[in-house]
This record gives sequence, C-alpha cells and structure tokens, in this order.
Amino acid sequence: MTPIVAALRYCARVPLLDSLTRPLRNLRLSVTDRCNLRCQYCMPEDEYAWLPQSGVLTFEEVVRTLRIFLSLGVEKVRLTGGEPLLRRDVENLVSMIASLKGLRELAMTTNGVLLADKAAALRAAGLQRLTVSLDTLDPKTFQLLSRRDDLSRVKEGIDAARRAGFANLKLDTVVIAGVNDGEVGSLLRYSFDIGAELRFIEYMDVGGATHWRKESVVSRAQILATVEREFGAVEPLQRDSAPAERFRLRDGKTFGVIASVTQPFCKQCDRSRLTADGVWLKCLYATKGLHLRDLLKSGSSDADIAARIRTEWSARDDRGAELRASMQERTPLAPRAELQKQPHLEMHTRGG
Ligand code: SAM
Ligand code: SF4
Ligand code: SF4
Repeated sequence: MTPIVAALRYCARVPLLDSLTRPLRNLRLSVTDRCNLRCQYCMPEDEYAWLPQSGVLTFEEVVRTLRIFLSLGVEKVRLTGGEPLLRRDVENLVSMIASLKGLRELAMTTNGVLLADKAAALRAAGLQRLTVSLDTLDPKTFQLLSRRDDLSRVKEGIDAARRAGFANLKLDTVVIAGVNDGEVGSLLRYSFDIGAELRFIEYMDVGGATHWRKESVVSRAQILATVEREFGAVEPLQRDSAPAERFRLRDGKTFGVIASVTQPFCKQCDRSRLTADGVWLKCLYATKGLHLRDLLKSGSSDADIAARIRTEWSARDDRGAELRASMQERTPLAPRAELQKQPHLEMHTRGG
C-alpha cells in the first residue's frame, strides 16, 4: 500500500466530530410526515400543515443521501416518521438501504398498527431491529391517547414481528401523569412475557407537543421508584451513547428509561435527523436545518454535499434538551400557530 492510500484509509476512519467532540454515527430518517394515530403527546391538534408530496425525496434520492452520510461515519440508520409503514413500498426502501456498504444497523420505529401485514416483508428485506411504540394495554386508554381504536392491531403487529424473527424487539412507552402512569408494572410484565425490552420515555416538550405541561411529566425517578416497588431493586447497567439508560432486575430481566427531560444526555448525542423532504436537523430541538434536497436537485456532487455536511457537523454545538432543562419557565417548544407555519418543527415531521 502506498503512503497516500494508507493516509486516505486512515482519514476515512477518523470520525467526524462536532464542536463538543461528538461523532456523527446515527441517522434517523423520517420517511413520511403522515400518521394513522393522533397521540396526544405528539399530534393533539385537529388540523396539520403537511409537507407537499412533490417535495418528498424519492427512494433513489434517499439512498444517495445515505451513501454520503455513511461515507462520513454514520453506521446506524433508523426509519421513522410520522408512521413509516404508511410510506408506500417501504420494504423496497429497506431492501435498498440494507445493501449499502458501511451500514452496521438498520432499524425502524413504528406505532405497529400496520405491522401485522408488513413484519415478514420487512424482515426479508433486511430490517434488523424493530421498536414498537406501546403506551398502554387498555383499549380505552389507547383510544384516549391516540384517538384511534387500534390496540388489538398493534398487539397483532407485535406478535407478527416476533414470528418474523425480530429477536431484539423493543417497546417504547411515553409515560404521562394521570393517563398511563398506573400501567408501568403491567407494561413491563407484558414486555417480559413476550421477550421484548421496554423503554419508558419521559414526556418531552418537543415541537408538536402543544399540550405539554411539566406536571404531566413522570420523571425517571418516579418510574424507577414504581418499578422497585413492584419488582424489587434495580441495578443500572453500563451506559453507552444510546438515549436509554438500561436497568436490570434481580431476576436478570432488563428495561430502559429515556430521561430526556430530567436527565438529558446531550453530551453523548451522536444523532441527527433527515425529514422526508430532505431537511437535515442536527438536534431534536433545532429550529433550522440544512436543505439537502435543494443540493441534491441543484446538481451538487456527492463530494460537495459531503463537504457541506462536514462543515455543519463540525460546527454543531446543539444541546437542546439540556438547555431546555435549565429554563425557569418551561412551555412547549412552539405554539400551534408557529407549527402551522413551520411544519419542520413537528416531531412527526422530523422523526422521533
Ligand atoms: N409513528 C412512529 C411511532 O410512534 O413509533 C414513529 C414516529 S414517533 C414520532 C417516534 C417516537 O417518538 C415514538 O416512540 C413516540 O412515542 C415518541 N414521541 C413522540 N412525541 C413524544 C413526546 N412528546 N415525548 C416523548 N416521546 C415522544
Ligand atoms: Fe403517535 Fe408516532 Fe403518530 Fe406521533 S408519529 S402521533 S407518536 S404514532
Ligand atoms: Fe441530541 Fe439534541 Fe436530543 Fe440533546 S436534545 S440528545 S443534542 S438530539
């Protein structure tokens, strides 16, 4: 190997770091802003400003963009939305992404409503990991939380995912005071029964959560106290850059807590997000992003686009959740009127 080739290979392995020395490793790819549920912590309003369909990236454009991100050090991609299973032929996109060189993990977060029909095809297409959002086991609470009567379909979807061979299935539960905080124990038992790992998520004041109030947040401390009351002592496991802190019960069973509100983890954050219409956001709370679609459409080369991403990531100093945790008066990120004008602020647009 010549010295130049060796040097190039070495450079390719040096991770791209932001201004707080955080690498660019994870990309959440929102494949649609549409959703078939209306969770009260995410889409509580009656009307939404949707992204124009004409602006949504094609599968080919998504794959080209991902190739560029992979060349810059991204290793893990998670498909999300909105509801990713509403994107037509999403399994074809999965298959196109799964074959990309350099990708270590391909995952999806879904509400599970359409999963029963899709699980086997997603697995066959190369999807490796699946997270299903499940906030309640009670049909009435499900209806109250999501304004749809689909709990049984979600559970069928979870069963189908297990049959399809998704071994490391995860369940995500947003815990809201007075709504589903009485179900911490039963949801955990359900996760143990089906061999999935459940993560309790603190209710965040992200864009879209227009009904957020700090009194509705059930904290990590409260969640852990409830688990200890019902299951005995919990032991924290070694933490990595993932948002969830993991815990083990005395019998070895595990679960996670994502404490974005009371113990934000921005210091380790290696995640960014790409909206369905190609806006790249360096933080869940970012108010502005880089319009990659404009670059893709304007004839920029892959090298030009990579250079723009490199410059942006190198300058990144985002610590959205930490900054919000230090606010005296905490209210939702954006009022409804602003969200109507700027749909990119919405959680269902940027991808959770
Ligand atoms: N529709 C899919 C689903 O619900 O799984 C994927 C998109 S959704 C935006 C991704 C995740 O964001 C879900 O697990 C959801 O519970 C979480 N989420 C949405 N709004 C949230 C909020 N205000 N606080 C905490 N988590 C939230
Ligand atoms: Fe609920 Fe996910 Fe839809 Fe938001 S995007 S309303 S969290 S199902
Ligand atoms: Fe990362 Fe922003 Fe979330 Fe902090 S708030 S963990 S910087 S995405």
